[in-house]
Amino acid sequence: MRDFEQGPIRPPSEAGSLLVRLSRNCSWNKCAFCPVYKGKKPSRRKVREVLDDLDAMKEMFGDRPQTVFLQDANPMILRPGDLVQIIRAVRDKFPGVQRITAYARSRTLARRTMQELEMIHEAGLDRLHVGLESGCDQVLDLVNKGVSRAEQIEAGQKAKQAGFELSEYVMPGLGGKELSERHAVDTASALYAIAPDFIRLRTTAVIAGTPLAEMQDQDRFKACTELGLIKETRLFLDGLQGVKTRIESDHILNLLMEIRGDLPRDLPSLLSICDQFLDLEREKQWTFILARRSGWMGSLEHFLQADVNRELARQVSISGTSDEELEELCARLRMRMV
Ligand code: SF4
Repeated sequence: MRDFEQGPIRPPSEAGSLLVRLSRNCSWNKCAFCPVYKGKKPSRRKVREVLDDLDAMKEMFGDRPQTVFLQDANPMILRPGDLVQIIRAVRDKFPGVQRITAYARSRTLARRTMQELEMIHEAGLDRLHVGLESGCDQVLDLVNKGVSRAEQIEAGQKAKQAGFELSEYVMPGLGGKELSERHAVDTASALYAIAPDFIRLRTTAVIAGTPLAEMQDQDRFKACTELGLIKETRLFLDGLQGVKTRIESDHILNLLMEIRGDLPRDLPSLLSICDQFLDLEREKQWTFILARRSGWMGSLEHFLQADVNRELARQVSISGTSDEELEELCARLRMRMV
């Protein structure tokens, strides 16, 4: 049986997908928060290599794959004609495939012509996942995202216009304490302009060894508090008034996993979930946060059940522990989750 090449990363929603590697690593690789491809050189794979992989995958999996994810961080970096050839080959080889998805950098999308994007979509690439992270220029500069707010909006609008189903990732906390409000407000307004099909939340974690961790050590980045993250999330949601989209809180680093629903219909209930948390007394807020960060509490709704609450209050005592100590403990717990 022949071997084939696959990359390390795919979105959670692509857990059951066949992973087909078109490019290696990340063509940018400079985002301060991102540990994934640091130290690894980016490269485009040759069309012939990818076609050979598809033959090997066909031998191994037959007609079983139903969804396909194109790797790594930015396969849109391939020449549009090459991309079209590979996507058509995936469709030919696996006729049962219902969806093909890829990550895409906004900058690359913004540089593609509408004709190129339409051609790629018509060949059979259905869905794009874009790491917007923030719609605020100051935050994008701070974390060296290598793209401006204007390019992010242009890229998103072009992707939608070309017919792609579009997911935009947002990182609560990415502006730290200093830029928290700007980050929330500008990100919401950028998404208002794009109107993606999905908004996916992934809370910022400062990961050891990344440039962001170095910035934190040098006091150039001050991470949001746990409470600040919820306040920021509420402000962000409030800015999504009038946007038609689906929001998903599908990452373990998010405190409020129940921030999910169809906007604008579900927006009032999502705001009230944030308010429920913010209205709790300090002890209960920290009990919930510690339970979430330790991985044994799935939702605020569960926590608010009287018996769960009583049992947790018995087991988790924070009396005599300062907010600063609890923040440090949570930062360490977050590190275990990434
Ligand atoms: S976040 Fe995405 S674009 Fe930025 S370095 Fe990581 S993989 Fe590359």
